[in-house]
Parts: sequence; structure tokens; C-alpha cells
Amino acid sequence: MVKERFDVAVIGGGIAGASVAAELSKDRRVLLLEMENQPGYHTTGRSAAVFAAVYGPSPIRALTRASRAFFANAPEAYFESTLFRSRPIMMICRKEQEPVLDRTIAQVGVMTPVERINEAAIRKLNPMVKTGYASAAMLDMSGEDIDVSSLHQGYLRQFRAFGGDLRCNASVLGLVRRDKGWQLETEAGEFTADTIVNAAGAWAEHIGHLARAEPIGLVPKRRTAAIVEGPNELPPDVLTSMPITIDIEENFYLKPDAGRLLISPADETPSPACDAQPEEMDIALCVERIENAFDLRVQRIESKWAGLRSFVADKCPVVGYSSVAPSFFWLAGQGGYGIQTAPALARLAASQVLRKPMPSDIAAEGIDLSEIDPSRLIGRG
Ligand SMILES: Cc1cc2nc3c(=O)[nH]c(=O)nc-3n(C[C@H](O)[C@H](O)[C@H](O)COP(=O)(O)OP(=O)(O)OC[C@H]3O[C@@H](n4cnc5c(N)ncnc54)[C@H](O)[C@@H]3O)c2cc1C
Repeated sequence: MVKERFDVAVIGGGIAGASVAAELSKDRRVLLLEMENQPGYHTTGRSAAVFAAVYGPSPIRALTRASRAFFANAPEAYFESTLFRSRPIMMICRKEQEPVLDRTIAQVGVMTPVERINEAAIRKLNPMVKTGYASAAMLDMSGEDIDVSSLHQGYLRQFRAFGGDLRCNASVLGLVRRDKGWQLETEAGEFTADTIVNAAGAWAEHIGHLARAEPIGLVPKRRTAAIVEGPNELPPDVLTSMPITIDIEENFYLKPDAGRLLISPADETPSPACDAQPEEMDIALCVERIENAFDLRVQRIESKWAGLRSFVADKCPVVGYSSVAPSFFWLAGQGGYGIQTAPALARLAASQVLRKPMPSDIAAEGIDLSEIDPSRLIGRG
């Protein structure tokens, strides 16, 4: 039987795979393989949808800054007009955490304007913060809520418009190197491709193993979130416009979400790659931390979920060709930042797949390829 042949096969239909496939489809014949019956079922469909240029290690912050223009001005032909909605970021601290706050401000304030505010200002922005709980905060007014579904669907629309071929229910089962290309055995049949892009999220290490690529030491970590009702006495407009309020050491966060509150204990529990589910213990921990910091009695959990944020040791993404498996490209380890960095990461990864120079606007943010190349991880896997 003649196998369908593609220039590039992208494995994984989450935001990473969909966005890089959309970029690559402008120049190449691209196959996008997703094991579920629809793309976005795993981590991409479970995020808190925040854009915070002050969040994550330096390469992440650079990629986030480089993504802002796309979010603000995505092509209307594919993306619904408003991917962004203003959501200030407020990282609060207790008195004893102030050294952490000051270090963070010194680090991130160089590239993103932030303000150090006092307790009165904190409580004005979020009246739910308990009196006497927080002594100071870092305020970033440039934060945004992201419409993740529109972003993801927009990339898939763009991918199809450029002739891309999406196959769902197409779990990749085997990868064999043959005649300078790859043979892919999947649940939906066999395909061949010159190049493979591994965007399989929590499963990326497994896909690397199938290709006999180098191990990268990827660890999926479970994070839990829940939706609860806000306090009755809080006026709806205050509830809607409040900043996302995050503990400076990321022990919890609380964010307005369509008239309700999204709360999380910011847990990072190592997990095998799987369909992650919330654990009762993490929900209980979440309620305890939130009730400790905010004037809120959680009466009822309206909904809850968990998702896997996958990290390598330095918490930076893994973007580049394998030095072991030929024409096998890593696009993994986006951790807790894969939505806000997706536009820049997709363009950067596509340029690297095609062995072209990095787009100049991304380079201008100070991205150093050696900080994201898989070769930095050799010996750590
Ligand atoms: C609670 C929570 C809050 C978060 N909040 C934010 C936030 O506010 N901002 C932000 O930027 N990020 C956030 N993140 C992180 C963000 O969601 C992830 O970084 C991002 O979704 C990762 O995208 P991905 O495409 O790599 O992974 P996924 O969306 O998991 O996609 C990988 C895909 O690969 C497929 N796949 C796996 N194995 C195979 C195979 N063998 N064959 C075919 N397909 C396969 C899977 O089915 C899956 O669809 C959050 C995550 C969580 C869990």
C-alpha cells in the first residue's frame, strides 16, 4: 500500500503542535497527528489563560514579550478579533517574603514596567485580600486574559487554509527511520515524512524514545484548579475587573473568571503522562490556602480540573533538532507558559525546522538559542 507522504509530521494537536503546524504549512506539506478525537483535550484545554510577561525564567519572559504583538493583532481571517482582555497581574507577599518580592522586581522590572505597591493599594485593587495579610505587591498592569480556544482554533483554521492535514484518533505508535525520512505508524494508518516535530506535551519524552532521540528529562507536573463563587458582598464590576492575585512564591492564585473565581494551590506534583484528574487532597489544600489569604469562605466547588505542565530541569522550553535522531525536532517543555509564548515559539520553531534565521523581532527580545536547544540537556536526561 502506498503511504501518504508529507514534508513534516507534527505530533500533538495542542497549542504547540497547532501553532507550529500553522506556521510550517505556509511553506511545506504538513501532517498534524492527534491521538484524541479532538485537539486541545489535554493541557491546552485546561489552562488558566493568563498572559504575564513577568512570569517564568528569562527565555520565557522574552518569548512572552515577543508574542504580545500577535495576540493584540492576530490575522482576522483566522482568529476572532479579541484574543486579549486586560487583566493586571498582582503578586502579593507577606512581610517575611519581601526579599523575594524585591528580587523579583529587580529581575523582571528591567524589561516590563512594574510597580511596588503597599497594602492599601493592594486592597483597593482586590478588596478580598485579608487585612494584615499582605504587606506589599508587584503590580504589572500589562497582564491579559487570553481567549485560548480562539487562539487554538484560529491556528487550526490557518493550518487548514494553507492545505494542512489534521488527523485525530491518530496516536503515533512507532517511528522508524527509513531512506532519509521517517515512517510513522499510527492508529490512523502509516505515513512518511522527511521531518518530525515532537509537540506531544506530557508525552514528548515517550515520542523521543520511539525515535531513539536523546532523553531530555521531561517531567509532567500536575496542577489543579477549581471554580468557586465570589463573596456576595463584592459588587460584580469589582469582581470582574480585579487583577489575578498570585502569591509571590506561587503557593496559590485567584483570578476572576466569568463572574466566578478561578482558584489554584499552584501545585506541581510529578505525574506520569496521563489524563490528569484533580485529587481531593489538592482541592482541600487549595481551599485552605485561599481562605487563609482572602476574605472568602468556599461553600461549594462548582467545577474542578487538573492538567499536566511539563518541565525539564531549567524550566525553559526544548526547541531544536535532536543531535541523535536525524530530522527529529523537539518542541516540548513549555511548562506553565505554553499559551502565552505560543505565537513566538511557533514562529521561532518553524524558522529552526526550516533552518532559516530567527525572526528579527524575536531575536530583538534577546532570545539565546543555546538556552532552549536540546543539546544543553545532554547528560541530564
Ligand atoms: C492548571 C493550568 C494552568 C495553566 N495556566 C497557564 C497560563 O495561564 N498561561 C500559559 O501560558 N500557560 C498555562 N498553562 C500551561 C499551558 O496550558 C501548557 O504549557 C500548554 O497547553 C502546553 O501545550 P502543548 O501543546 O505542549 O500540550 P498539550 O495541550 O497537552 O498537547 C499535546 C498533545 O499531544 C497529543 N499526543 C500525545 N501523545 C501523542 C501520540 N502518541 N500521538 C498523537 N498525539 C499525541 C495529546 O493528545 C495532546 O493533545 C497552564 C496549565 C495548567 C495545567
